[in-house]
Amino acid sequence: MSLIVMKFGGSSVGDAERMKRVANRVVERQREGHQCVVVVSAMGDTTDDLIDLTKQISSATPPAREMDMLLTTGEQVSVALLSMAIHSLGQPAVSFTGWQAGMYTEAVHGKARITDIQPERVLKALKEGNVVIVAGFQGMTTEGEITTLGRGGSDTTAVALAAAIEADVCEIFTDVDGIYSTDPRVVKCARKLPEITYDEMLELANLGAAVLHPRAVEYAKNYNVPLVVRSSFNHNEGTQVKEEAAMEQGIVVRGIASDKNVARISILGVEEKPGQLAKVFTALANAQIDVDIIVQSGVMNGAADFSFTVALTDKDKALDVIQNIRSEVGFREVSSQENLVKVSIVGAGMVSTPGVAAKMFEVISDLGLSINMVSTSEIKTSCVIDNSRLNEVIQALHTAYGLDTDQQAFVGGPKDRR
Ligand code: ADP
Ligand code: ASP
Ligand code: MG
Repeated sequence: MSLIVMKFGGSSVGDAERMKRVANRVVERQREGHQCVVVVSAMGDTTDDLIDLTKQISSATPPAREMDMLLTTGEQVSVALLSMAIHSLGQPAVSFTGWQAGMYTEAVHGKARITDIQPERVLKALKEGNVVIVAGFQGMTTEGEITTLGRGGSDTTAVALAAAIEADVCEIFTDVDGIYSTDPRVVKCARKLPEITYDEMLELANLGAAVLHPRAVEYAKNYNVPLVVRSSFNHNEGTQVKEEAAMEQGIVVRGIASDKNVARISILGVEEKPGQLAKVFTALANAQIDVDIIVQSGVMNGAADFSFTVALTDKDKALDVIQNIRSEVGFREVSSQENLVKVSIVGAGMVSTPGVAAKMFEVISDLGLSINMVSTSEIKTSCVIDNSRLNEVIQALHTAYGLDTDQQAFVGGPKDRR
């Protein structure tokens, strides 16, 4: 008998029919003799709808605590309904909120990290023969405050719980049937990957591939949780995420990801003296702003220019921070640029294969586009470019790295991406 954590995302439980299909699938597994813990997300677009509601209440940014109080209701609806659906099939089941399941997080609203899991109640309910259903995306601080784990965070609930209860496998059921070389909604001839390493998937997730929450992959890697991504709409074999993965002959780039949540900030005419970069980036860090790519150009007439990227959603806050340290740092002007996208290629084999990054630059320039910024590591290269022709760029890169296939990708219905 094995212990399985099964996670179903929003589109997999989008309406009552789908919820019942999930219930059947879980009961099927339980009756095969496995013990099942199920993690679910809010139904369909519930989380987005709740966020829209807050905008009708006030144009001001809502208090983060109340936002978490609101958003966690979405998952609570799902666990209760799924439990009822499983009961109606004659299988005992019990639903738990994140806090009932012992998910403790740091005291941060909106994007809390899990700090501890006390799964005793989950284990007891399992032992009593129940399917245990846990609300994804939510936790509690040691002070008893409700928190959320960041958008897409139900994946992290599932993997962290799988690690805590030492599950044999964590299966992430979603609306595509595995991890592809790039988003199969963008590139129809995307290649389904039978397996991928934790490190490659972590890069792809951090660089914008929405199929897995980055912290879920981090957890899986740190606790060596066998992780599978597969479809909730069919029984196709999914993609295994593991420590080592076989590379197909002749393929160096495993995947391509993109992230539109990017803005560039340029500070021009910065007085040349020691410690300037430190001042700017310490001020940004103190304001909880993550800085990504940093480029400093040469010094001319005792002044330097530098640019960096931040999340588009942090742009205004970052500009305020820079203005506030203007007198301390001394610079001529600060400006920002939107309508950008960061496109990245990822592959563990890149480090030992020359010319991979050069090919990326060539493909982008052959399309007549200029590259604003570049960043590289052993297993990835990212370019910041204008976002107007993103899909064309991704398709061209996909072809150039020999990733196109003639097999039709499985995509379970349209998706509203707000
Ligand atoms: P869920 O609601 O099940 O958590 P998500 O929308 O978070 O689903 O993740 C699944 C989606 O991820 C797919 O519908 C697909 O459009 C997108 N996606 C992005 N990159 C990839 C990739 N490399 N492979 C597969 N899917 C991807
Ligand atoms: N419901 C949350 C969201 O939409 C969490 C998740 O789906 O994983 O982000
Ligand atoms: Mg998701």
